[in-house]
Amino acid sequence: MKVVVVGFGLGGLGSAWHIAEQVPDAKITIIGDEKPYVRHKLRLVTQGMDLWVSTNHLESKGVEVILDKVTKLRREQKEVVLSNGETLQYDYLVLATGSNPSIPSKLKGGEKCAVFRRLSDVQRLMDERPNEVAIVGASFVALHVADAARAIGAKPKVIVRSRLIRRNLEPELSAKLEEFLAEKGVEFIHGKPKEVRDGKTVIVDENREVSSEMAFVATGVTPEITLAKEAGLELLDGWVIRTDQQGRTSDPSIFAVGDNATVIDIFTNKPIYMGIGTAASIMSLNAAKALTGFKAAYRVPRFQKDVFFGGIHMASVGLTSVEAEKEGFEADRVYLSGDGWGDHAYLVYEKKTKRVLGFSAISKEEVGWKGMEVMMAMIRRWPASKLGVEVS
Ligand SMILES: Cc1cc2nc3c(=O)[nH]c(=O)nc-3n(C[C@H](O)[C@H](O)[C@H](O)COP(=O)(O)OP(=O)(O)OC[C@H]3O[C@@H](n4cnc5c(N)ncnc54)[C@H](O)[C@@H]3O)c2cc1C
Repeated sequence: MKVVVVGFGLGGLGSAWHIAEQVPDAKITIIGDEKPYVRHKLRLVTQGMDLWVSTNHLESKGVEVILDKVTKLRREQKEVVLSNGETLQYDYLVLATGSNPSIPSKLKGGEKCAVFRRLSDVQRLMDERPNEVAIVGASFVALHVADAARAIGAKPKVIVRSRLIRRNLEPELSAKLEEFLAEKGVEFIHGKPKEVRDGKTVIVDENREVSSEMAFVATGVTPEITLAKEAGLELLDGWVIRTDQQGRTSDPSIFAVGDNATVIDIFTNKPIYMGIGTAASIMSLNAAKALTGFKAAYRVPRFQKDVFFGGIHMASVGLTSVEAEKEGFEADRVYLSGDGWGDHAYLVYEKKTKRVLGFSAISKEEVGWKGMEVMMAMIRRWPASKLGVEVS
C-alpha cells in the first residue's frame, strides 16, 4: 500500500508515524514545505529554545521524507505533483496542510501587520526588537505573542474586543486571566480595533490610538485547503475539509487531519472545526487506524491546556456554560477552588441529568490531572458526583 502524507506539522508527522506503526507493509512518503518544528511552542524561541523536530524516527521506519511543496492533487490519477514537477502515486493520501492566520477584512491596514504562525514570524519579532508591541486579538495565540514580546523586553499591549479566550473560558475566568497577566505587565485595551496605520499604530473604536512599533494580528486561522478545493473535495461552509469520524474526506482514498479539517463533535455528532494541536494528534491516529480496516474512531474532545508567562495555567475541557447553551443544553455550573481544581475553576453540567459538559480553570498552580478526569467523565457521560462534586 502506497501512502503519501502532505505536511510536516503535528497532523502530518503524527499520521506518518502512526501509519508506519500500524501498517508495517505501507510504503510511506511524507512531504512538507518547511523543516519541521514544534509550532505551539513558538513563543519559547524568544527564550532561546530550539524547536526543530528530527525526522530520524520516521526514516528509521523506512518513511521517505521530502522537503518540497505539493502543488497539485490529481484524484483521477491518484497522484500528487511536487513543485519540481515530479509526481508521486498513492493508494491513500493524508492531507495535513494545517491553517494560516486570518486577517479580519474589516480591519483596515490589517494586511500590513505581523502574524504568529511560523518560525519566520517569531524571527521577525526578534530581528525588529520593538519596545512596544500591539496585539489585535484575545486568543491564546495573542497571549503567546504577548509572552514572546515580554521575553525580548517589549511591552505587550493587547487589544481585546470581547474577552480573553472566550470560547474556552467562563467569563469570570477571562477576567481573572486578564488580572493575572496585567500583574505581569501586559496592558489591556478594550474596544473594537478599526484600523492599523503602517503596521504599527492601532486605532480602537472611534479615535483611540494605541501606539506601538510593531502590531500583530492574532484573531484566528483559516484552514489551508488549496489542494483539496481545487481537487473538488467536499468542504464544510466552503471553508474547511469535511471529514467523517475517522478523518476520511468525500474521496474514500483521501484523509484530512489537523487544522485543515473538521472533527465530529462528541456532544452533537456534527462536524465542527477545532484547529488545535490536541485534536490534530488524535485525528492522525484515527486516520492510521482506518487504514488497518478499523471501523471505529477515538473521540476528539475539546481540550486545551496552556501556561502563560511561565506560571499562569489555563485548562479547558469540553464546553463552557455559554457554549453549552449555544449547543442547546440547559446548563449550569459550579465554582471550584483548590483540591487540584486550580485557584479558580468552573465545572459545567447539564441541569437535568447532572452530566458533566465541561470545565475551565485559571490558576497560578498546575491544574494537573483534573482536566483529564473531566475529559473522561465527559466522554463517559458521567454525572458530576462521579468527580466528587455535588451539584443541586
Ligand atoms: C503560537 C501558537 C500556539 C499554539 N498553542 C497551542 C496549544 O497550546 N495547544 C494546542 O492544542 N494547539 C495549539 N496551537 C495550534 C496548533 O499549533 C495547531 O493546531 C497544530 O499545529 C495543527 O497541526 P497541523 O499539522 O494540522 O498543521 P500545521 O502545524 O499548520 O502544519 C501544516 C504544515 O503543512 C505545510 N503545508 C501546507 N500546504 C502544503 C503543501 N501544499 N505542500 C507541502 N506542505 C504543505 C505547512 O507549511 C505546515 O508546515 C498553537 C498554534 C500557534 C500558532
